[in-house]
Amino acid sequence: MQQYDIETLYNLAYKDRVTNYYNWNWMDEKLTDYRDEGIESYGFVHFDLKDFKMINEIYGHVVGNHVLTRISEKLQEQSWIYFGARCDNDNFAMMTKEMEKEEFLLKLQTLFAEITEMDIIPGYKIYYRCGAVLAKDATGIGSMAADPAKLAQSQGKKPNGTEIFFYTDEMKEREIRGKKLKNELPDAIKNGELLVYLQPKYDANSETLIGAEALVRWFYKHEQLMAPGMFIPYLERDGAIEKIDQFVLDRVCYKLDLWKKAGKKLYPVSVNLSRLHLNNPDLVEILCGIVDKYDISHELIEFELTESAAYDNKEYLLTVMHQLRGHGFKLSMDDFGTGYSSLSLLKDMPLNVLKIDKSFVDDIDTYSEEHKERLIIKDIIGMTKHMNVDSLAEGVETFEQKELLKEWGCQFIQGYYYSKPIPMDEYELLLG
Ligand code: C2E
Ligand code: CA
Ligand code: CA
Repeated sequence: MQQYDIETLYNLAYKDRVTNYYNWNWMDEKLTDYRDEGIESYGFVHFDLKDFKMINEIYGHVVGNHVLTRISEKLQEQSWIYFGARCDNDNFAMMTKEMEKEEFLLKLQTLFAEITEMDIIPGYKIYYRCGAVLAKDATGIGSMAADPAKLAQSQGKKPNGTEIFFYTDEMKEREIRGKKLKNELPDAIKNGELLVYLQPKYDANSETLIGAEALVRWFYKHEQLMAPGMFIPYLERDGAIEKIDQFVLDRVCYKLDLWKKAGKKLYPVSVNLSRLHLNNPDLVEILCGIVDKYDISHELIEFELTESAAYDNKEYLLTVMHQLRGHGFKLSMDDFGTGYSSLSLLKDMPLNVLKIDKSFVDDIDTYSEEHKERLIIKDIIGMTKHMNVDSLAEGVETFEQKELLKEWGCQFIQGYYYSKPIPMDEYELLLG
């Protein structure tokens, strides 16, 4: 058997072979030692690189490894970093001097800006997703600081730019609530706790019904009616939201089928598609499966996507959109004006409807004619004409708002002025 000396064994156990920096085993032992000795005066940071996978794919592993090594070297130059480690893949951790939060943030911002500026890959800017916590703020949730730092790190969602988040108790509560709701969701669906409401949409000129948007409600334990704001944001992180979107589509198709059989006039219904759902490679197949199960004509279904969805991976998004349109579904851009609008992307999207966000509609009836908000919404409506898509204004609450929007050429109106979201049976009464 081969003999190893102590140093070799030590390196094998505690050093990362790519960067020659410490590894997670080493960091983990340090954290355990600190905990056992009751030391809480340090900061802990966990970070990774944005798009590291792509760097490896485009530039190759040698360059990828070089990037990791240069980062490790840079960390070792910082006197305020006690220890650092490359944990796995592109994940790094570091234990730092205890500081005031402001100073800590500034140090991290400066560090990451400097690493980005190092131009490790000439002409390619590398950005970071970073979570930080002061060990004293992490007590009560286990003395290991890594989990809270990782939780903070996971709040970073943007594809570009360095993001630094400090752990807060609210993040922990959100996570706990999310897990609880996610566990309860399957039974809630079985027990009929999820309800689908429909909010009617109207034609601004003829003031006739043109369709509806499906909006989910959770009648929690058959006791409390929860609006989506109380559960969707908590479920969005780990895919449970897909179940909801699919359930809503299923219920909509089920009803359309009943109405069809009853000889009712059928209007299109729009269903929200969560951003995460779009990442599911089987999305189109799943959606078609649900709609075809009830033999519902595809043009009766419209999918609402949000602008933030548009941002992550635009090529892929466009592909999915074209597939959905290819299957005869309608598409709308939801909450237009609130996300990262990219006009160049928008013009490539096969959209039927642009839904102008409520925030643009609010107060338009109280502003003067030259007010910026008024000019903007008029321009958006004008733009939809050039793009050859229909415009729908959301959250219209007053007669005056409706009149102005009509005057500016907005085709469709959705909002409390006509109707709040209502149970499906109530909506049925509106059908001829
Ligand atoms: P959204 O898609 O922008 O839906 C419109 C929201 O605005 C609805 O809130 C609706 O009740 C509200 N609204 C409509 N007209 C007015 C108005 O005149 N005044 C005011 N103040 N509010 C108005 P809701 O039902 O609470 O839904 C909130 C959000 O939850 C939705 O925003 C959507 O993003 C999400 N959501 C709802 N159902 C689903 C679903 O099945 N799947 C997914 N992924 N998201 C959903
Ligand atoms: Ca919507
Ligand atoms: Ca909306």
